Amino acid sequence: MCSVCLQMPCHPRCPNAPEPVEVYNCSNCGEGILDGDEYVEIDGKYICMDCLDNMTTKELLETCGYEVETAEVDCGW
Ligand SMILES: [Zn+2]
Ligand SMILES: [Zn+2]
Repeated sequence: MCSVCLQMPCHPRCPNAPEPVEVYNCSNCGEGILDGDEYVEIDGKYICMDCLDNMTTKELLETCGYEVETAEVDCGW
């Protein structure tokens, strides 16, 4: 058992923990998506949760490929 975090295997934040493995790279911020991190795959792009948390609903929808439109009354001609 580790003498710093008293866990086996080490807690991820323990200084004795091994370097986390980058599984993917976030295509929005470029940060590594580490083993155990949550992410979303959209259109073959990997987005980390930090980016998703910082997005507005509109940005999120646009990232997913939805177009946010403005409703307008069709006044006809
Ligand atoms: Zn440890
Ligand atoms: Zn990101």
